Amino acid sequence: MSADAPQAAADDPSGPIPFRLLPDTSAVSGQGRLRIGGCDLVELAAEFGTPLFVYDEVHLRARCREAVAAFDGGAAYAAKAFLCAAMARLAISEGMDIDVSSGGELQTVLRSFGDGGAREAAERVVLHGNNKSAAELAMARAAGVGRLVVDSFEELDILDELHRADGMVPRALLRVTPDVRAETHEYISTGQADSKFGFGIGSGAATAAVERAAAAEGIELAGVHCHIGSQVFRTESLAKALEVVTDFAAPLFGDGGPAAGCLEDLSIGGGLGVAYVEAEHAPTISEWGVALSDRWRTLSARHGLGARLVAEPGRAIAAAAAVTLYTVGSVKEIPRVRTYVAVDGGYGDNPRPMLYGSDYTAFMPARVSEPRPSRVRLVGKHCESGDVIVRSAPVPVGIDAGDLVATPVTGAYGYSMGSSYNRIGRPAVVFVADGDARLVIRRETVDDMLALDALS
Ligand code: PLP
Repeated sequence: MSADAPQAAADDPSGPIPFRLLPDTSAVSGQGRLRIGGCDLVELAAEFGTPLFVYDEVHLRARCREAVAAFDGGAAYAAKAFLCAAMARLAISEGMDIDVSSGGELQTVLRSFGDGGAREAAERVVLHGNNKSAAELAMARAAGVGRLVVDSFEELDILDELHRADGMVPRALLRVTPDVRAETHEYISTGQADSKFGFGIGSGAATAAVERAAAAEGIELAGVHCHIGSQVFRTESLAKALEVVTDFAAPLFGDGGPAAGCLEDLSIGGGLGVAYVEAEHAPTISEWGVALSDRWRTLSARHGLGARLVAEPGRAIAAAAAVTLYTVGSVKEIPRVRTYVAVDGGYGDNPRPMLYGSDYTAFMPARVSEPRPSRVRLVGKHCESGDVIVRSAPVPVGIDAGDLVATPVTGAYGYSMGSSYNRIGRPAVVFVADGDARLVIRRETVDDMLALDALS
């Protein structure tokens, strides 16, 4: 945070936007305008157009380094949060591995490094995903992916079959479901027994999977993995999952067990929550690392296990690194009911409010130090009543058509989950640092969409 950041009323939703919800290098210019990475947001909007995702490169790098330090090198960036070639390179250059959950994410990472660097990058990749296809598994093996996270017996069958054809033996972890509930939205809760992901510990499937994987010729068993959910604020829930998984793994991977000596990695997944609005506070990556590492020290000593503790943060790396800039197109006041402020993006660049009922806040980059006493409903331009970006957005008095408005904490699961619904192209994305803005994803055009049409 810069020295001239407004400190007062950090949790007052009608005060100026609190700087803790903005990217690290945020600062206010002499004209009262927000700068990120030394770039004036009003000027960025004029240069690149809106909607526009603006990522603070310093912030992204700092969070990657924090994760690498917190997990002693055992940190993988969960690419599903936000991925493009620049992000893949940034995460790897800061010492993170990369977790991908599809062949598409895998190819994005590999191609980011070109033919010369793809092999080396592949070693830093962990491939997840329930229901991986034979083609995806074959591609990952051929590329030399560092770890496969096996989700089902069918995947073990495919890996055996591929091995019979070419003799390759990739390293693999088994994803287990510990039946620990994350206090989060049902759609992003994955650790409960009733989950589509992984082998259930309670049902005995996980034990059977370890026994089979340890004896399989098609893989080299290298550990276990779990991920209980996303946007989890209590590190104790994640520490509890670690305990359940360790207690499960110890007799199987310890001396005399069917997989003795095979526990190289114990991955606790991602899931650390972030604050999206004034009322929320989240643990830092370092605090999360301490909570898990402390628990792991106790558990590994108790069971005599020497594995590396691995984590896969996505949201905690990318979410607060970005803001989305929009231009207001219309202001509709319904007397005694509410005011709708419609902008030039919406569901297509941020589906989270519609998917999960997620809350966001808003501010005006040209009036960043002003109080925000008015409440408006910030809506998008997609043809859905539910296309609401912020249900009750605090804004300065007098917001009008043509003004620039921004939503903070949009760096994770915004662009990556977005769509071109209504054939509204997805926004451009810029990385800013040291007064420079570089385009890392160009704006999607109607020509891009029409290029998919197969005219007969
Ligand atoms: N690892 C796995 C297996 C996941 O499924 C996810 C998110 O769904 C993550 C890591 C990243 O989670 P988050 O972005 O909440 O840190």
